[in-house]
Amino acid sequence: MANKMNVLFASAEVAPFAKVGGLGDVSGALPAALLENHGDTLDIRVIMPFHAIVKEKGIPNKKIGDFKFEANSQEISCELFVASNAGVPVYLIDNQDINHDSPVYHGDWRLDGLKYASFSLAVLEAARFLDWKVDLLHANDWHTALAVYALRTRYKDDPFFAGVKTVLSIHNLPYNGWGSQEAMAALGFVASDDHDLPDWARFTPLPMGITKADKFIAVSPGYAREILTSEYGCGIENYLKLHADKVMGILNGIDESVWDPTLDDAISHNFSVENLEARINNKLDLQKALNFEADESIPLLTIVTRLTDQKGVPAILEGLPQLLGEKWQFVLLGTGNPDLEAWARHLEEQYPDRIACFIKYDDTVARVLYASGDIFLMPSLYEPCGLSQMFAMRYGNLPVATATGGLADSIVDYSTDPENATGFLYQEKSTNGLVSALRLALNTYQDKDQWKKMQANGMNTDFSWPTSAEKYYQVYQNLINKD
Ligand code: ADP
Repeated sequence: MANKMNVLFASAEVAPFAKVGGLGDVSGALPAALLENHGDTLDIRVIMPFHAIVKEKGIPNKKIGDFKFEANSQEISCELFVASNAGVPVYLIDNQDINHDSPVYHGDWRLDGLKYASFSLAVLEAARFLDWKVDLLHANDWHTALAVYALRTRYKDDPFFAGVKTVLSIHNLPYNGWGSQEAMAALGFVASDDHDLPDWARFTPLPMGITKADKFIAVSPGYAREILTSEYGCGIENYLKLHADKVMGILNGIDESVWDPTLDDAISHNFSVENLEARINNKLDLQKALNFEADESIPLLTIVTRLTDQKGVPAILEGLPQLLGEKWQFVLLGTGNPDLEAWARHLEEQYPDRIACFIKYDDTVARVLYASGDIFLMPSLYEPCGLSQMFAMRYGNLPVATATGGLADSIVDYSTDPENATGFLYQEKSTNGLVSALRLALNTYQDKDQWKKMQANGMNTDFSWPTSAEKYYQVYQNLINKD
């Protein structure tokens, strides 16, 4: 159909091709949900860098061709490939700055700055090469914010891009692309002339993109409110408040077909809400595999996370030794900050009969932990949305989490509403806060009926994408039909 809305969805990560965190989950599932519900009126295509991991995974793809563009008198040669994810075309771009032998993130701000500044320009040039007239560009986080910015600066008088609308999703505001300045200068980006922004932000990718986006969407309503405050606004809260009419929050969903405890191959004993007894065997197997005491009555605490301060990991590592008088076992899966990795290993060495730490990234182990644990820890200092707590609830693992951002939007708190509760929320973001919330959860665990009710509440909650995808669709429609 000629009059479909053409939406180009640009992201650094797209599951299952390349995923580091929730951004990958969202970019894998949201376009597919939109296509499924609105394929008759929407042509949505995803574009991402051709990372090494995509090649290593052997994702089938086809080369479409080569194109070149100029940036600040440099000629940049790109190769364009296409793959498919749940029926959605996924374009993969390579050039000398993206370098398809590279990891998703180098962890070096200057290299990442170059990779993603260059990718952001290549996103737009790829649309031109394809001669695909984009109605709306949906960018995600700092990595692709510069595509939005370039559209309104470098390409503002380019007839090919006339009338393109833009949405910028904010998955994590503190990651603003700082360190990309040298790369941006090399590629000819100029600082924003919007003096409502603080000076530092006028040449920083995420704020630059925000100044030019038609809508900025935080990944939960709670986070949309929080980023307007000095506590969470990362220095641009005043700008966001001035433009509050462009800010909105849409809670992320999860792909319930990919995260389904009744079918998940990664777990030995599939289960459903009607058959929670089968779930216990996953826990017993894990306890045995870890040489823990195999006893279903010992609460199993779990966490699957990037090991960063954001995720409140220090509160866990400091708090657990304060709870040695209580019965529990703890399994951690995560990688990240080397100091936190070392701290976790140290704790495991001290208490090998009740603490195990897997310092790695492993999707299978993640699923086993979601399916085996009783309590899922998420003491985040801030949490734009958070998907892990949703996976945990879907797998009958009750979260203990700070009452912030998407955690407060997705978990029903035991203390305020025991009937409908799906987990435990607490206000004080500190080790003490976590320790008291955990004590309450451990006590509640003794009340088997209440616990089962909460498990059922969590497992029956609709976290599926269609509801949230519908909200994105409305945004696309409103923007595209505005003129
Ligand atoms: P964030 O995007 O801030 O990292 P989310 O909770 O939104 O947090 O998403 C994290 C995603 O990454 C989840 O799918 C989680 O299962 C996954 N994940 C995090 N760490 C690991 C790990 N070490 N191994 C496997 N999966 C992980």
